[in-house]
Amino acid sequence: MTARILVVDDIEANRNLLETRLLSEYFDVLTAADGEQALEICSAMSIDLVLLDIMMPGIDGFEVCEQLKSGAETAHIPVVIVTALDEMKDRIRGLEAGADDFLTKPVNEMQLLTRVRSLVRLKMLTDELRLRAVTARDIGLEELFRPSDEGTENRPRLLVIDDREVSFEKLGKALRGHAALTHVKDPQEGVLHAADGNYDCIFVAATFKEFDSLRVCSQLRSLDRTRFSPIILVADSEDESLIGRALELGVNDYIVRPVDANELIARMRTQVRRKRYHDGLRDNVAASIEMAVTDGLTGLHNRRYLDTHLETLVARAHNRGKQLSLLITDIDRFKLVNDTYGHDAGDDILREFARRIRINVRGMDLACRYGGEEFVIVMPDTLPHVAMEVAERLREQIEAVGFKIENGARNVGVTVSIGVTSLDAAENDSAKALLKRADEALYEAKGAGRNRVVSKAA
Ligand code: GH3
Ligand code: MG
Ligand code: MG
Repeated sequence: MTARILVVDDIEANRNLLETRLLSEYFDVLTAADGEQALEICSAMSIDLVLLDIMMPGIDGFEVCEQLKSGAETAHIPVVIVTALDEMKDRIRGLEAGADDFLTKPVNEMQLLTRVRSLVRLKMLTDELRLRAVTARDIGLEELFRPSDEGTENRPRLLVIDDREVSFEKLGKALRGHAALTHVKDPQEGVLHAADGNYDCIFVAATFKEFDSLRVCSQLRSLDRTRFSPIILVADSEDESLIGRALELGVNDYIVRPVDANELIARMRTQVRRKRYHDGLRDNVAASIEMAVTDGLTGLHNRRYLDTHLETLVARAHNRGKQLSLLITDIDRFKLVNDTYGHDAGDDILREFARRIRINVRGMDLACRYGGEEFVIVMPDTLPHVAMEVAERLREQIEAVGFKIENGARNVGVTVSIGVTSLDAAENDSAKALLKRADEALYEAKGAGRNRVVSKAA
């Protein structure tokens, strides 16, 4: 994972220490000796994470953090505040300033790398989402992209798997005001609960009286429904090697007892944010895929989808010795409609045309917009004479009821010509040949005066 990290500290030795550790993990590292310089760097170039000292001459770390978090171009950069161990008040102020995480001096190497990796991963997802958001907006599809809202109205749902009442009570006390909490004592029951509950974050105790906590973590990582749920291990400081193994298993973060409430909340929030970005991203990818194979005007599948699926459907029909029929429709004199009533009216007609196609086909049929005012319907398991009936019924329904345009102010008569063909079982008939025959049949229908159905056998 390559990422550019900015280390801000007024003491050179501190900067060097962090820089060396991060460089050895192949991060790209920049340094700044004061707040002004840090802000300048963040606005001038793309930074993936800021490690920020608090006590600095000039503007201090809190103010740097506030300024970064209030700038539109820098608000998404994760900020980790580096404080001395006893500076509890500083942590609260840091949270208020919008910090994403804390590290205490002297910085523990494992903590440093865990936090940095986790936040950098989060940042990569953020960047991806931002990019997609911009793209979606550019092509007028912003409704497809709904950024996750993390406000109080959307309280995180947390699951705590811990068999010790006292330990749970401590977590509960800190978290209750900030989240909806579910507590399960039995580790195996906890895993089942997690799979059912779509939790935003799962806390797992590092030690159970009679069960291996690493087993719980690996089960959560491998189950389909919890694969992407953030896991935070609640450990004791002497559990160092267990923590290391848990992180290797894919546990996202850990917290060491005695648990500090502010740290707990900050870590929980970071993970919840990560999960919500992640979920948003996955929805977004699904939407993009959907978009790539859907015609924007009519909502039917597009030609790209037909091209890939027709071959599959043809192969399936051949293999199973089944029938398959296909028809191509082309609206008659559609150019004239556009020329007379305008392009918007033409679009209204296309939408309504697609709607009538949709109500005329079965669920297993594939209807798509082939281009312009041409549509293709593929009908598996359909005999030629049945396909003719479908085509004729559609033709009649188009002709019988006028099409509303100009918000219903006008009604326009539309007719359609249709070419029909069926797969020939004997010949090794192909998708391409099928489309070609249907197109030839359509051409004949046009030549014979339009508003009619013509079929052509192989
Ligand atoms: P024919 O009966 O021979 O099919 O005549 P036609 O006018 O329908 O055929 P032609 O292929 O010449 O014209 C098709 C027209 O369809 C031209 C184009 O303006 C219109 N068209 C294609 N796509 C769209 C679209 O997305 N929206 C609108 N409004 N019109 C479209
Ligand atoms: Mg045409
Ligand atoms: Mg036409």
